[in-house]
Amino acid sequence: MAYKVGFMGFGGMISGYHLGTVRRDDVPFEAVAAFDIDPERRADAEAKGLKAYDSAEKFLDAGGYDLVVVGTPNNYHCELACLAMEAGFNVMTEKPVARNSAELQRMIDTSEKTGRLFTVHQNRRWDPDYLKIRQAIEDGCVGKPYMIESRIHSANGSGDMYGWRAMKDHGGGMLLDWGVHMLDQILYMIPEPIRTVSANVFPLWSEEVDDYAKVIITFESGLVAQMEVATYAPIPLPRWAVYGDRGAMTMEEIGSPAAHVRRIKKDVSSRDTVKAYEDYKVLTREQSRHRILEFEEFDTDKNPGGGWHSLYRNLAGVLDGTEELIVKPAQVMRCMKVIEAAFKSSEEGVTVRF
Ligand code: NAD
Repeated sequence: MAYKVGFMGFGGMISGYHLGTVRRDDVPFEAVAAFDIDPERRADAEAKGLKAYDSAEKFLDAGGYDLVVVGTPNNYHCELACLAMEAGFNVMTEKPVARNSAELQRMIDTSEKTGRLFTVHQNRRWDPDYLKIRQAIEDGCVGKPYMIESRIHSANGSGDMYGWRAMKDHGGGMLLDWGVHMLDQILYMIPEPIRTVSANVFPLWSEEVDDYAKVIITFESGLVAQMEVATYAPIPLPRWAVYGDRGAMTMEEIGSPAAHVRRIKKDVSSRDTVKAYEDYKVLTREQSRHRILEFEEFDTDKNPGGGWHSLYRNLAGVLDGTEELIVKPAQVMRCMKVIEAAFKSSEEGVTVRF
């Protein structure tokens, strides 16, 4: 059985990615209708076989949706998601879920009040590079990690802030655009409590919104995670760099086939490691390096399967009652609180205690 989906907003992301995904043979959804305020976008929806509506009320009155996906500019997510839940429909919004935690709280409250499912399209939890890095960390490739760096520099895929993305009241800016994906990835990977957040968030070329953000999160155990998104960084640093007590690894690009891992030999006890470092004093630098470190390519066969459509497959499992929801509202709230702490840290020049 295919679950019926209605879209609120039928722009680039919905008409391209979402429609294509729900039409995959291995995704048990069927796209039935769309609401968009732009007549051209409605004409496109009709040309693609959907019923098109020019108001939220008409779209919701027509009904029959197992899931409503909200994919408008960010400032409309909260209002439209709440309207859809109040009309009795399960809702997934695009990311960022909303502009701030107050809007998100309203959405969570509406979900609890109506008993409707509420989730967010955090599709980059299924990015191949992220899955590989996560798996490599879990496999102990670098031992106990103490620093995880996640970067998107312009040459890695980020772009200019344009259209509504360049407008503050529309929830524009890089931190809410790419940053929310990157922070969601980090926070999903590291569930432990957060101690502090510090950040620099500013516009370099944009007029109203940030196009550069660096956010440093210190967790309870002392582990530090750093996220950096730079729209204008023509000499890009690697997508990922992870340092641990037994080695380090980098991954160059989104979708990289392999991580580069250099690690301290697995079989040395800490006493041996100390001994190896003592030897360093009498060995040449080159000899010492070869004694302590070995170079490995990460075994990509061990990586779990990914694909953004896995998120829709999970939703089908939740609707069937056979799976637990992967993108949970509480996780989305944790991420939004980090984003708010990052803005505060940057504006006030302080480290925010969490
Ligand atoms: P877009 O500008 O191409 O599309 C937005 C659409 O919403 C347009 O068709 C517009 O006419 C319509 N719209 C505007 N106001 C509306 C309203 N009040 N009611 C109904 N329709 C309205 O933007 P986009 O790139 O498709 O982005 C849409 C959403 O998807 C954003 O939240 C964005 O952050 C998100 N997005 C997510 C990813 C991802 O990887 N998850 C990628 C791109 C965009």
